[in-house]
Amino acid sequence: MPFIRQAESNPMSLRRFFMAPEMVNHPHPEISGSDAGHICRVLRLSAGDIVELFDGTGNGYLAQIVSASPKRVSFIIKESFPMLSESSVQISLAQGFLKDRKMDDLIRQLTELGIHRWMPFYAARSVPVPGKKGMGARLNRWEKIAIEAVKQCRRGQVPRITPAGNFDDMLLAAADSDLKIIFWEGAPQAFEIPGTVPPQPKKITVAVGPEGGFEPGEIQRAREHGFLTTGLGPRILRAETATLAACTLVQYRFGDMGITH
Ligand code: SAH
Repeated sequence: MPFIRQAESNPMSLRRFFMAPEMVNHPHPEISGSDAGHICRVLRLSAGDIVELFDGTGNGYLAQIVSASPKRVSFIIKESFPMLSESSVQISLAQGFLKDRKMDDLIRQLTELGIHRWMPFYAARSVPVPGKKGMGARLNRWEKIAIEAVKQCRRGQVPRITPAGNFDDMLLAAADSDLKIIFWEGAPQAFEIPGTVPPQPKKITVAVGPEGGFEPGEIQRAREHGFLTTGLGPRILRAETATLAACTLVQYRFGDMGITH
């Protein structure tokens, strides 16, 4: 069929859109809202055109537009395929809450770096503490940012996003990881994971502090919960720099940015 040949010859050229799994399985899958306007008015796609859809759980689809209006675009799904851009390790990034829009930037960048779960928490020295209502709005915004980042970096899976709890909630949520690392400028400088850890951990929690850093008591409690402390070299990095460096190092060492085993 011609549409498949077109996709196979240059799969990178297809436009990508998110469609929730329930909608993909619906007898009449469609996209509404701002994406429909974008498809119709900006990209000027119309009946017969082929796009790529992703459902955020690791599946991709080739879909053909049946009808397109700025309010609603309907499709038939032609083919499904697994998206092969997920890391072999599931990194949960536990971030001490940061000021202003820094958390928004981080969720985008960390999605590109392939994290599995975004786990903000209120550290003792976190300055801003959004209330319940504020948190709900943040979660919605992060979800949108993560979906956009997935779309752009050709990932198949949208990171799980959990509402912020306190430091001890974070320690408990990390219990399912087989490697837990807390980045602390008081640790010996090098990023070093002792040989005693499982050689190929599957689930890793990475914790990074807020602007003011961790309190000694937090480091102590993390250690009691099985976290290893490690460093990021001799310089004190800003929190958001530290998070990106930490995630990259962990993805390189255990995930899919280095030589894959
Ligand atoms: N308040 C501290 C710095 C905090 S930096 C001070 O001024 O001394 C914010 C977070 O980034 C820290 O909690 C830590 O998780 C991480 N970080 C920054 N530089 C680091 C380094 N050299 N080694 C390990 N972690 C670091």
